[in-house]
Amino acid sequence: MNLKVCKFGGTSMADKDAVMKVKDIVNSDKSRRFVVVSAPGKRFSGDIKVTDLLYRCFEERDIPAAFDALFSKIRQRYTELVEDLKLTIDIKKYLDEVEDGIKKCGRADYAASRGEYLTARIMAEVLGLEFIDASKIIKFTVKGVFDADTTNDLVANTLSINKGAVIPGFYGEMPDGSIKTFTRGGSDFTGAIIARGVMADVYENWTDVDGFMTTDPRIVHNPVLIDTLSYEELRELSYMGASVLHPDSTFPLQGTHIPINIRNTFNPEAQGTYIVKDVAGRSGRLITGIAGRKGFTTILIKKSMMNAEVGFCRKVLSVLENYNISLEHMPTGIDTMSLIIPDSDLVGNVEFELIEKIRGRVNPDLIYVYKDISLLAIVGHGMSHQAGTAAKVFMALATADINVKMIDQGSSEINIIVGVSTADLEKAISVIYHAFF
Ligand code: ASP
Repeated sequence: MNLKVCKFGGTSMADKDAVMKVKDIVNSDKSRRFVVVSAPGKRFSGDIKVTDLLYRCFEERDIPAAFDALFSKIRQRYTELVEDLKLTIDIKKYLDEVEDGIKKCGRADYAASRGEYLTARIMAEVLGLEFIDASKIIKFTVKGVFDADTTNDLVANTLSINKGAVIPGFYGEMPDGSIKTFTRGGSDFTGAIIARGVMADVYENWTDVDGFMTTDPRIVHNPVLIDTLSYEELRELSYMGASVLHPDSTFPLQGTHIPINIRNTFNPEAQGTYIVKDVAGRSGRLITGIAGRKGFTTILIKKSMMNAEVGFCRKVLSVLENYNISLEHMPTGIDTMSLIIPDSDLVGNVEFELIEKIRGRVNPDLIYVYKDISLLAIVGHGMSHQAGTAAKVFMALATADINVKMIDQGSSEINIIVGVSTADLEKAISVIYHAFF
């Protein structure tokens, strides 16, 4: 029989109506045996996600009045959900345990993870499945790195004897028994880990949109839906800002052929987007999607005869390494080098210090800093070995009078990255979209 792992996101857990839809979805297909859940998300605009409330509780844990005010919102949210669903679970017991735990915990991870923990406890009763704590099967090393091999064995051994289970997303356990979370949105990653461990036929990722769009619907009205996407294309698009799925979600699935199927809890009839390892033979479009990311700075370094100076690059990059800064792109000319760095890595004095260190290290003729840079990625296997894609992209930008500040194309030819002023980003995405779709 087919085996499916289903992960439901925060909006699917937001209230009783959403949870009842989830129940129908799971019950309508016997192969949906393993269910991973997020913490309840926003019910309406202006609402606060439970995970955000939990992070705030942790920050205020030493200020009783502020902590109590925040925790009472969480308490109310779960109590209401249990009452609305007419469940028998003793949610007060779990809430008391969590409240106490947050006051005592040393790291935000424990607090943040409790949204998923409480939700999975509730969903286990709703679905009539066993609750399995992620801390028992998802492990990190002492250095806090996800321990894929140990986890995979534990997931495979623990879940193979289960008819089905509900597992909280977003966290696992450190060797000392403390809780560690993945980065935000990490329940998608948990779903992939479980799918890998039980060797599911498909990993269904249930969210609140019909699938992966060719571009951001806030920028282009009603963009075309992507029916099939490769792991690689997904990674490029989500890294560059497409937010349907956590960018690391395919890592646990590398080496398998398990597809991810993005589905909409609120429109379960829609077949969604399939994300597969290999799209060879997929007919159709030259490009698969366009995504954009704001918030970059370019540091331009000029030095005559730079190209002849052996070790120049290494010296500059070692300065970045000392600041633990990861470089996004590094277009070079004969006597110029541009470092494209996320603004989030240049907070406080870092930018100033970095420039001084680079000056000291390589003695350039000039250093310029350009702020407000955005990057956009045009992604698709269809464009490799095809003449004309770049021409079409740049013609669209030129016609819209958008100045290109940087161009980068990897030799895999599945993406073209273009740097523009942040003020031009949305227009750039829109004109490129309309040139291709
Ligand atoms: N609840 C966590 C977050 O808001 C994890 C997740 O939903 O995937 O980031």
